[in-house]
Amino acid sequence: MFVEGTLLCGRRFDPVEGRIIIEDGEIVTIEEVAVDSTDIVLPAFINAHTHLGDSIAKEAGAGLSLDALVAPPDGLKHRLLDSATQDEIVAAMRRSLRLMTASGTAACIEFREGGVDGVEAIRKAGSDLPIETVVLGRESEAAMHTADGFGASGARDGEFEQIRSATRDANKLFGIHAGERDADDITPAFNLDPDFLVHMVYPNTDHLTRLATEQIPTVVCPRSNLVTGVGVPPISDLAERTTLALGTDNAMLNAPSMFREMAYTAKLADVSARTILEMATINGAEIANLDYGLIEPGREAKLLVLDGDSDNLAGAQDIVRAVVRRADRADVSEVIT
Ligand SMILES: [Zn+2]
Repeated sequence: MFVEGTLLCGRRFDPVEGRIIIEDGEIVTIEEVAVDSTDIVLPAFINAHTHLGDSIAKEAGAGLSLDALVAPPDGLKHRLLDSATQDEIVAAMRRSLRLMTASGTAACIEFREGGVDGVEAIRKAGSDLPIETVVLGRESEAAMHTADGFGASGARDGEFEQIRSATRDANKLFGIHAGERDADDITPAFNLDPDFLVHMVYPNTDHLTRLATEQIPTVVCPRSNLVTGVGVPPISDLAERTTLALGTDNAMLNAPSMFREMAYTAKLADVSARTILEMATINGAEIANLDYGLIEPGREAKLLVLDGDSDNLAGAQDIVRAVVRRADRADVSEVIT
């Protein structure tokens, strides 16, 4: 098969007119030729941080503090998850996964509550959907073994040395929240030698230096930080120092739309549209060891096709800026996964 239009190729996302030849789900060739298409083709998104279980509680808890909303074990989110049936949680997660697919997301890195049952619930929710869920379990070593790794709540919430080394022995991913409300849990998180950190709203100069020296990938979730009122991560400082990816965090707080997360981040942070598109695609793929997120030969063909002649995108002078700051689900022509 093939797809054609204006292609955002390689890590620079340089717009090229042409055609992508796909065989057995892999990008085989990119032909730079004149084509009769106004479509824009880019890598499908990787949403690098989600909690989809609380899709059962969209917009619950208006005005509550971060702890009252999501801190384990008694935050509103955990009480709502505890009181919902497994079938209700599976059905709600399935709807979020379907929405994410329709809005151009090929994969997400999900921090899943509920131990082994929680991991199995999201596997069931996404079983026949064309989105890859990289599931990081929590609460037990068994959850880590059932999942693709372990997603720790944060170093202040418990001792994680043992599960960290078990996750390493299993050759799986270990991610941890750090620096969401203050700097206190950042060094303890570093000391666990995680595969990646989430949030980092409050790194100090020493933390930024260590982040760069040890090259610890980081995921930021700016809209979530705004809703919970914790502040704004220093996105350009982080992007200069390490692999920085973008996630939408709790579905109860924000719709899991990478279009919205990109547009918000673009207007919040002093970084280029190209950097934000990297954060939404290849950087998340690298954190999760996925072989897509870029248009180049040899990669898996997980692609997003936008209608460049939609009322929203027609006449765009800078295609990458238009995709990052302006595009939305209504512009999606096709998601190839
Ligand atoms: Zn989180």
